[in-house]
Amino acid sequence: MNETVGTKIPFNSTNVGKCMCPKCPVQAKSQCVSGKLTSIKDALAKTSLIREDIPGVYCSTGTATCKDLDPKQSCICGGCAIFSQFNLAAGLPAGYFCRDGFAK
Ligand code: SF4
Ligand code: SF4
Repeated sequence: MNETVGTKIPFNSTNVGKCMCPKCPVQAKSQCVSGKLTSIKDALAKTSLIREDIPGVYCSTGTATCKDLDPKQSCICGGCAIFSQFNLAAGLPAGYFCRDGFAK
């Protein structure tokens, strides 16, 4: 169930549920992300989550597989429960995980 790409934050459905990325302005106009969000329930029903299916928890899984994001908009990771729980403000990158890779 826990397929982790980074080592810090477990890649599981609980953490996907807490992730704010689906509401982030960086992803708001991405057709690639919209497509993945329409089938997110099926994606979460799989025994092992697949990073390409989940447009979020980039702090766990690393750089977004969708390429039509807009990093000129503001990252909202700072308001996320995972960000506080794992003290991601103290690590690198400190946000924009979709662009800069998983938290270390
Ligand atoms: S810290 Fe950012 S990437 Fe990680 S789960 Fe929260 S909103 Fe998603
Ligand atoms: S990692 Fe930050 S910038 Fe990227 S989609 Fe999530 S909240 Fe937005």
